[in-house]
Amino acid sequence: MLIVGIDAAAVEAALIDGRLSCPGCASDLRPWGHSVEREVRLLDRSVDRRFRRSICRACAATHVVIPEDTLLRRCDGVEVIGVALTAKSKGKGHRRIARDLDRPDSTVRGWLRRFAFMADELREHFTRWAHAIDPVHDRLSPGGSAFFDAVDAVGVLGIVGCGRDWPWSDESEYGQPPAQIPACGTTALGSYLGCERRSARQDRDAGC
Ligand SMILES: [Zn+2]
Repeated sequence: MLIVGIDAAAVEAALIDGRLSCPGCASDLRPWGHSVEREVRLLDRSVDRRFRRSICRACAATHVVIPEDTLLRRCDGVEVIGVALTAKSKGKGHRRIARDLDRPDSTVRGWLRRFAFMADELREHFTRWAHAIDPVHDRLSPGGSAFFDAVDAVGVLGIVGCGRDWPWSDESEYGQPPAQIPACGTTALGSYLGCERRSARQDRDAGC
């Protein structure tokens, strides 16, 4: 699986040109058909999508290429789950969030539990990449819980990475192309949470 931008034409061109890398061995990926169409639920509508599939020239592994506003094995898009994560980090319970989003309690509880289970790992991952992109940024503000700090770290990466071209082609000091950054959380989620974070900071600075 590889998460890329939402511009299908640009992704197709990148695949054809060999500019997307295999998550397993970093060799070039090539187009390899499409996945079965499935529904993706957004905040105000649902859309049907078929994802591009790719194959690695070196190891022959196949990978679904997923646009960054979608999450693997989740029926709901990033903008929906982003709302839930933000609400939870602000103290709302899963039933209230489920009611606000018009989703089943069990679905929302599943998102939050999974994120909470991986909170430390996510915070570390996104913090590391934020520093890799901008070593002098000073945007972290620990909030007293692992969940909040993980949400904050994703948002910080969204802010730090804002306006940059994805994927990049240079090798990083972490031994894998920065193009693989979105594969563990998506830049769209980072952008969404980054916007939320900026709003919260503006509210705080304004004394709200
Ligand atoms: Zn490979």
